[in-house]
Amino acid sequence: MPRYDFRCRSCGATFELSRPMARANDPAVCPEGHPDTVKLLSTVAVTGASGAAAPAPSGGGGGCCGGGCCG
Ligand SMILES: [Zn+2]
Repeated sequence: MPRYDFRCRSCGATFELSRPMARANDPAVCPEGHPDTVKLLSTVAVTGASGAAAPAPSGGGGGCCGGGCCG
């Protein structure tokens, strides 16, 4: 079940609720009892590539002992 972050506009508290996606837009009540809350952007539905680049070998040359430079 996805979790949603909310922030209370009355006291500024942030809190997290687990609820079905069908009820994602239901109003949430602050743990302090304030009904004036806003839903924050969730990190559940992250789209886009993160660009996990592997360290690719770069540069020319085959090393010292490959080309007969050291012996
Ligand atoms: Zn509150």
